[in-house]
Amino acid sequence: MKQLCQTDVLVVGGGMAGVGAALAAARAGKETMLIEKNGFFGGIGAFAMGMPINQMRTGHQARSDIHETLIKKLAAYGDKAVWLGEHQLRCNVEYLKVAILDALDAAGCRYLVHAHVVDSLVTGDRVTGVVVGSSDGLLTIQAGVVVDCSGDGDVAHFAGAEMLKDTDQPAPMTLAQKVGNVDFEAAKDFQRDEGMWRLSKQARETYPLIPEKWRLTRAPSNSSFYINHGGTKDLGNYDATDPLQLSEAECLSRRQAVQMIDAMHEFGGEALAGIELIATGPQIGIRPRRRVKGLYVMREEDALEGRRADDTVAWRSGFLDIGFVRFEPMKIHDVPYGALVPEKVDGLLIAGRCISATHVGASAGKSMGNCMATGHAAGIAAALAVKGGQQPRELAVGDIQACLRQDGVDLQRAGAEQGEISHIRGE
Ligand SMILES: Cc1cc2nc3c(=O)[nH]c(=O)nc-3n(C[C@H](O)[C@H](O)[C@H](O)COP(=O)(O)OP(=O)(O)OC[C@H]3O[C@@H](n4cnc5c(N)ncnc54)[C@H](O)[C@@H]3O)c2cc1C
Repeated sequence: MKQLCQTDVLVVGGGMAGVGAALAAARAGKETMLIEKNGFFGGIGAFAMGMPINQMRTGHQARSDIHETLIKKLAAYGDKAVWLGEHQLRCNVEYLKVAILDALDAAGCRYLVHAHVVDSLVTGDRVTGVVVGSSDGLLTIQAGVVVDCSGDGDVAHFAGAEMLKDTDQPAPMTLAQKVGNVDFEAAKDFQRDEGMWRLSKQARETYPLIPEKWRLTRAPSNSSFYINHGGTKDLGNYDATDPLQLSEAECLSRRQAVQMIDAMHEFGGEALAGIELIATGPQIGIRPRRRVKGLYVMREEDALEGRRADDTVAWRSGFLDIGFVRFEPMKIHDVPYGALVPEKVDGLLIAGRCISATHVGASAGKSMGNCMATGHAAGIAAALAVKGGQQPRELAVGDIQACLRQDGVDLQRAGAEQGEISHIRGE
């Protein structure tokens, strides 16, 4: 196979975890490359047409220099690009895509889009790079350490790592929508009075694919709205890592989006009578499904009890939230370094949606700011491993923590009461 390039740190997957990892490793002085199968970065944050990017700030302050870098790049485009809340950002995704490029450029990070990883290069138990599919055929990228931020842990799976997929009921997948021509004040009242729930009940006979309820959230420009909902929740159990099921879920969701608009026209009263479908996401959004088994497996109890860990490298805040299936408060809790290190495979770290966790453990604190924090930690660890010629599992966690503190991470926040980081609602 032809070699495309090589790098010290290779980050696979350009969602919030991947962006955090790539920025951290590049800023730590190691040659870093971020690769992504789509033509843009941002992952689910960009697929979702304006969803709030939660847990990016603690009480109006960015939670690390890495989070702040992205916030500043977005803010440079002004109010049309982003609205900053106490812990969340609401952005126009087109600016998000460009702000990520700006941040990567400023950090001196190389990047490649349209690079779909289809296999891992493995020597013994060690990942040494990946294989990407392209119009030029299969090409290899060699790396000192790979950080898997692909969401479903593709690199780890291809490398033969043990994966966790311990539920018969996958969290639903949802195709986000951007809609316009809505009377904002009337829509607010309609939603406050549980109007969507009533609408859905009335309309389901005519429009059988529509979800039980959904939510309209105003975009920063004020003229369009983002819709999040239970997606495939009532339509069947779809597994995103099964190509046939993913394809069916994606196609069904596109019909569902159209039915939702028709249902709102017909049953949404004055507020929604003129609603227009502007766009749907470029692909369906996948909630945590396949994770990598690491040295530590994060569990529901960690989130509910607000577990602290001596080897913490990040913390997660927000809600325990299995998208429209289960939603409840949790405590801020630590992410131990072991949740980012695959149990048996070397040369590899994991971050974001696929960190080592049970089904519920993965859904607790899956917000994008938390994913970026695990990416940040994995990026630092990858850079340290390359510098020291060590495997990620051999690193002294104190060294990673020292670098994170230098990057403005307050690791002591873990275990604090949930109220310290306010959260309006889930996801
Ligand atoms: C419908 C929905 C609504 C949500 N709402 C919210 C919300 O309101 N606020 C919030 O903060 N969080 C929300 N979440 C959760 C949050 O979006 C995710 O947990 C988070 O984005 C995961 O980030 P990630 O970087 O780990 O993965 P992803 O965002 O999934 O990024 C993974 C990236 O890897 C790429 N990739 C995958 N496989 C490969 C491969 N083989 N080769 C190359 N590239 C690959 C993908 O294209 C993608 O860009 C929601 C999630 C969903 C699905």
